[in-house]
Amino acid sequence: MLFLLIACVPSGPVPDGSDRWALAHDACAEASATCDAFLADDFGLDDTVPPNTVEAFRTLVVWDLGDESSGRDPRGDYDTEPFLDLLDEWSGDTTAARLYNYMSAAVDHVYVANGDSLADYRDGEMRLSILLSGGMWVTLTPVLVHEATHATWPGHDECDGRMCDKTWSGAYGAQASTAWLGGTVMHDAWLLEAAADAARHIED
Ligand SMILES: [Zn+2]
Repeated sequence: MLFLLIACVPSGPVPDGSDRWALAHDACAEASATCDAFLADDFGLDDTVPPNTVEAFRTLVVWDLGDESSGRDPRGDYDTEPFLDLLDEWSGDTTAARLYNYMSAAVDHVYVANGDSLADYRDGEMRLSILLSGGMWVTLTPVLVHEATHATWPGHDECDGRMCDKTWSGAYGAQASTAWLGGTVMHDAWLLEAAADAARHIED
């Protein structure tokens, strides 16, 4: 019984009420060495992480994913509710602030190295393939979100022999929701395309 109770406790980072986003926003309003140092410290970015990937983390600070009202506007074909519900318990007035605070709590160390997949995450450790480091940072950011939300939603399902999630309560849902919210609020076609790509990995 005790085991069952423990098994039912939601996994993932626990909010401590701090607002790292507010500090990050002061340091990272502009790209700068100060910002790079802040992000390196906050996410444990090591020397293998290239500048475009640092910029993908800085995007978490500066982009506009809307506030509660616009973020929950049921536009489009995407079920953003599981992702927004995940962020609900985190501090911050906007979706982007809550996402940053979740991410900074979930991620302790980021490094670039090749492996069996483009990226993975386990116990605070995020590995990114060198193949990702040449990509566009604006579409890399939802991938970073995907990996970090494995702190809460570990693993994937298999659908017809390929990796997928059965529902939107998973890392692909977080990835698609992030890209879609950003693409919708900022009218960014690349992000909307990235949302569609991620959504193809969700069965329902
Ligand atoms: Zn994944």
